[in-house]
Order: sequence, then structure tokens, then C-alpha cells
Amino acid sequence: MPEIKKLLIANRGEIALRIHRACHEMGIKTVAVHSTADADAMHVRLADEAICIGPPSAAESYLNIANIISAAEISGADAIHPGYGFLSENAKFADIVEAHGLIFVGPKPEHIRTMGDKVEAKRTAGALGLPLVPGSDGALTDSAEAKRLARDIGYPVLIKAASGGGGRGMKVVPSEDEMDTLMAQAGSEAKAAFGDATVYMEKYLGNPRHIEFQVFGDGSGNAIHLGERDCSLQRRHQKVLEEAPSPVISAEERDRMGGIVAKAMADMGYRGAGTIEFLWENGEFYFIEMNTRLQVEHPVTEAITGLDLVREQIRIAEGHPLTLRQEDVVFRGHAIECRINAEDPRTFAPSPGLVKQYHAPGGMHVRVDSGLYAGYKVPPYYDSMIAKLIVYGTTRQGALRRLRRALEEFVIEGMKTTIPLHQALLEDPEFQQGEYTIKWLEEWLAKQD
Ligand code: ADP
Repeated sequence: MPEIKKLLIANRGEIALRIHRACHEMGIKTVAVHSTADADAMHVRLADEAICIGPPSAAESYLNIANIISAAEISGADAIHPGYGFLSENAKFADIVEAHGLIFVGPKPEHIRTMGDKVEAKRTAGALGLPLVPGSDGALTDSAEAKRLARDIGYPVLIKAASGGGGRGMKVVPSEDEMDTLMAQAGSEAKAAFGDATVYMEKYLGNPRHIEFQVFGDGSGNAIHLGERDCSLQRRHQKVLEEAPSPVISAEERDRMGGIVAKAMADMGYRGAGTIEFLWENGEFYFIEMNTRLQVEHPVTEAITGLDLVREQIRIAEGHPLTLRQEDVVFRGHAIECRINAEDPRTFAPSPGLVKQYHAPGGMHVRVDSGLYAGYKVPPYYDSMIAKLIVYGTTRQGALRRLRRALEEFVIEGMKTTIPLHQALLEDPEFQQGEYTIKWLEEWLAKQD
């Protein structure tokens, strides 16, 4: 079995630090690669070695495959962990890593490729027995065909980009007379953002929740699920706060749906960590996409299962079997994660800058994943998420009380952050009751002004 002795972290920010921590707990040396803008980042300081791979622009650094592979060769790393974002769902990168005799800590390249094309992903998910959102059977090219289909499905419908991500390239079409314009717009936006104009159609669900299942496969036909996360609190299709378990999913429903997704992954021969995303409405699940990587919100699953998901990814990449059998997975308590961004909490305008004071909350069942420290300068070039606060409680009510306490303690001075947004959200009775859908946060934000 290949043992990983030195791992290159092809990412930045909190997730790079998260991966470094798992490696050092496993006795694995780490290599940080960074842009010139990230020379002072915490994970760069803590890693055993650090190599600069380019200027601030991600295209020339964190997406620069040649420089990352060179860094692995120069440092003698035997594995690469891509984190999330950047190259994590780039099948070509996974291919190249493996072609250089390095271990890719992630799924088989062919599965990344299949799931990265949403049309192909839906076809595969359907064939594996997952319930789908009603829609086009594959890509849509012609608007007459789109109109015929939309009449059957019923308006409103959603036009989505096959290569889409981050909520981009999506258009809600309210009625037939807007189909031509919106379909053309979706296609050209998708072409501009992803280099691929392919679009497809889905029924637009009116008021669903976003519920996703964490899965793990060993690549040889064994797979388990680690329950669901509720990520319905979104702004512009971006997750803001996540919790596990979902306030609306019963233990029976978790076992039933979890069993279906785990079987699908086993049948596929899936390797490593993955997330199957569903919309959930009126008690029904509808598959929307699969992410073939670690998710930002993975710590809430760690909190309720006790499993270190990055360690598990690394062990599977080394060829070990899954640590747990399904019957050994026990869900305990409740966990909530707040994404804290360097943004104005009302306008969401980015607010990078120098961290003048920093104090992270602590105490029982409080976890902060962040690369921040006093004196660190948040660079303006990347994602605005600067910290994740994760709390655990034996009950949801307990977790909410702990979250309120932890947010009170959190001090980040020198920039605006979304901490006040999370504090206000926590006081909302509907949120406290767990009564929210993917539309809820935007409506709530509109009421705050
Ligand atoms: P992306 O990869 O761009 O994030 P997803 O397919 O994961 O795209 O969808 C992102 C979000 O868009 C979902 O969490 C949900 O809020 C909304 N969405 C996607 N598909 C539908 C649909 N058929 N009906 C209603 N909302 C949807």
C-alpha cells in the first residue's frame, strides 16, 4: 500500500490550513504552494516547505498546473490534495497528477469528468436510481424544443449551464414569450464564464430546501453515507450558514435516502469524498448535482459523526478501506457552521485589509477554521471567506445558544465582516424554528432595510 510521506496542498486560506492540520496529525509532511500575495498566510508559515508558484492572479498561480506539478517534483511530494475550488474538480489536473506518478487525493478522474458536466451527471444519477428534477433529457439546443418541453413541465422553468457552478449561468423563465431571450442569454453567459454554451432545462421548484448527503467510497465498490447537511440559507445561490442534521429530515428518511446514495456510489465504484446535492420539496428529493471534492461545510458532518473527513480522504487515497461500515456510523447531536466573510454585512461589498485585532472564540464544542491572525493582511484577489465558525450541541437549541455565545466572543478588527449578519439571523424566530427554504434568506435580507 503506498504510504503518503509528503503531501502538497494545492490551495490557500482556511482549507489549506485544514489539510495541513490533518497531515501533521497523521505524521505526513506538508508542502504549501502559494502566490506572491499569500507569502504570509498561516498555512504557508506552518507547512514544512513552501514554494511560490506565481503572481496573485489565480490563473497564474493556484490554477497553474505546470507550476504546481513542478513544485511537487522539486519538493519530492508523493501526493496532492486540491482542497475545494481552484483545481479540485478539474479532471485534466487529476489525470496529470496521476500521470506524474503522484497520488491525487480525490476521486477517479473519469468520475470528476462525468459529474463536472451537469447534463452527464444527471443522466448518470438517473441511471443509478437517484430521483431527478423533471426537465430536459440532456442538452437543449433549439428554443422551439425548449418551449414544447416547458409546456409539459409547466412554467416557470430554469435554464442551467451544463458546465455551471457557483449559481452562475442560470435563468428562470417565467413564461413562453421570454424563452428565446433568456435561453440565448443563459447560453452566452455560460460561454463567457465556462467556455461552454451548453444549457439544459429543469422545472423551477418554487420553495425547496437544499439538502445534501456526504458520501465516501473506497473505489472498489464499497461506499457509505455520513448523513445530510441543510444548506438552504443562501444568498445569490451561495451558502451562508449550514447545519447538520437538517431540521426537517427524520432518522428514517435519512436512512432511506442515505441508503440510496451510498448504493449509487458503490455501484459507480466511486473513490473518496463526494457530496450529492438535492432540492427537497413536499417530502421529495430531487438530485441537482454531485460535487466530487471536499465541501466548505464538511465540519458540521465531522461534528456529528466524529470522523475526520480529510484524514479519511488521505487514507482512501493511500488505498486503505473505509474506516467505518455503515452500521458503525452514529449521528450524535447538532452542528451549525457560519461562513464569515470580509464583507459589509448589509451591502456585501468586499472589505479586505489588515487584521488589526483578532480573537477567536473557544470553549467546549466551538471550532474556528481560519488562517487569520493579528497583523495579517487579507488579500483582495480571492474569495472573501475569512473564517468558519462551527459549533456543536447535543440539541439544535443548545447549538444555537452556543453559537450566540461564540459569535459574541469573536473579534476581528480592521475590516467589516458578516458576523453581525449571523447575529441578527440567530434572533429570528423562523430561523430558530428551522423553518426556512432557499428563498428565505434573501426575503429576510430585504426586510432588514
Ligand atoms: P451551481 O453548481 O451553479 O451551484 P446548482 O445546480 O448546485 O448550481 O444550484 C445552485 C442553487 O440554485 C441551488 O442550491 C438552488 O438554490 C438553486 N436551484 C438549482 N436548481 C433549481 C431548480 N430546479 N429549482 C429551483 N432552484 C434551483
